[in-house]
Amino acid sequence: MKLSFYGGVNEIGGNKILLEDDDTRVFLDFGMSFSQSGKFFSEFLQPRKCNCILDFQVTGLLPKLEGVYRQDYLEYLGYPEEERGINAVLISHAHMDHSAYIHHLRKDIPIHISHASHAIMKTLEDTGSGTFKDLLHHTATFRIRPKKSGAGYTKIKGEDAKTRRPLKVFKYGRKYSIGSLEVVPYEVDHSLPGATAYLIHTSEGAILYTGDFRFHGYKTEATERMVEAAIEEDIAVLIIEGTRVDEKAGNTEEDVLETAGKFISTVSGLVAVNFPARDLARLKTFHRIAQKTGRKLVLSFKHAYLLEQFSALGDNMYPSIDDPHLCFYEDRKGWGLAGRDDYPQNIVEQDYYTWERKYLYRDNTINFREVRENQEQYLFYCNYFQLNELIDIMPKPGSHYVRSVCEPFNEEMLFDDRRVRNWLELFGLGEAYQIHASGHANYPELRKMVEDIKPKKLIPVHTEHPELFKQIHDNVECPKLNTKGTD
Ligand SMILES: [Zn+2]
Repeated sequence: MKLSFYGGVNEIGGNKILLEDDDTRVFLDFGMSFSQSGKFFSEFLQPRKCNCILDFQVTGLLPKLEGVYRQDYLEYLGYPEEERGINAVLISHAHMDHSAYIHHLRKDIPIHISHASHAIMKTLEDTGSGTFKDLLHHTATFRIRPKKSGAGYTKIKGEDAKTRRPLKVFKYGRKYSIGSLEVVPYEVDHSLPGATAYLIHTSEGAILYTGDFRFHGYKTEATERMVEAAIEEDIAVLIIEGTRVDEKAGNTEEDVLETAGKFISTVSGLVAVNFPARDLARLKTFHRIAQKTGRKLVLSFKHAYLLEQFSALGDNMYPSIDDPHLCFYEDRKGWGLAGRDDYPQNIVEQDYYTWERKYLYRDNTINFREVRENQEQYLFYCNYFQLNELIDIMPKPGSHYVRSVCEPFNEEMLFDDRRVRNWLELFGLGEAYQIHASGHANYPELRKMVEDIKPKKLIPVHTEHPELFKQIHDNVECPKLNTKGTD
């Protein structure tokens, strides 16, 4: 049995761990490293699609491996055809730093995900933009065919080139096999629904890969069940995330509910709030605050789409889009015709993507006029990219901005943060009210978990401080980043 680490080493995120046992080879996550990407790329300097995976490989974002990458890209680069070299990719959750590079995988590699991860990835694919966004599907590029009408060629693109990837959407707790491996996925609590830890039986004992997890959200019991199951096993190797191994304490989701709720109950004007877009636990927290304070939480059409996916799963952990304390915001873009009765509806619709149009006609869809006139009734979701909506809403005196995201930890985030401050100052909103709960377990929790599970070996990933785990366990292997590829 062999483990190779192509990401997630001495950094938070970018997990790409290759597990090889007998003839079976699986990747645990296939994520993007934000820090490596930030070394070379920015918003307007991006890897080129026309150079396919080479731009990613040359800049150290993707390892040089055979039998892993998309055939359409390799062919276009003039590379010979390859055999599939990977049995499956097991995704812990749908955060970019664990899953974004699924885009670059061959279309015949099965992707293993939870139902909730499927719902999130479907939302990302259907409502997102960008060049490298294939997740559940594979949309072949660089393909041409003769025109039906006669002379010349046409590019094959869009739906014509789209195929569904082979997906294994598993049930938690149910054992299945991949080649010589036996796998049991367990749900864990994280700042994104559908997070999964994998118990994998290999020829050299059981491996537990935790993905990202915590013990202080609405699904804490799931993490506890995973630990209990692991205690029953003889764990040879525990691959554990350690984002917060250097932190002793922090807020719980209930703390956010209580303190933000208390603050918001004192606000007389509009409350604008920013939280991570797909953190449905946080969305639930602010929905509960809206209920308690008699406000309505105003969300985006992307939220509506995401909540619908979860309702379709029968998951009633999160509010339905018909909930009386939810509204959806018709933002102004394109010609900015939201709320303009002097234009025909078919013209107004053209400001919106096809998937958005059905939300325009809901009873609980509102535009800036309604928010501007009744500011004290709303808890308005306003992320960084929506700050310009404040120009239409014109928050009245006594309004506040609640910031429920992590503190800035790099230069780019500091610049963005300064811009947010300028907007708040512009509208007299004062200092942002900061309250957040992390998606990750802290030191005492990590320590207790390791002591309970008693693995023979501990491998910390997804942390800048792997060496701190030596205080927790006497057989810690700090992984080395594999930069060479297979050879
Ligand atoms: Zn995560």
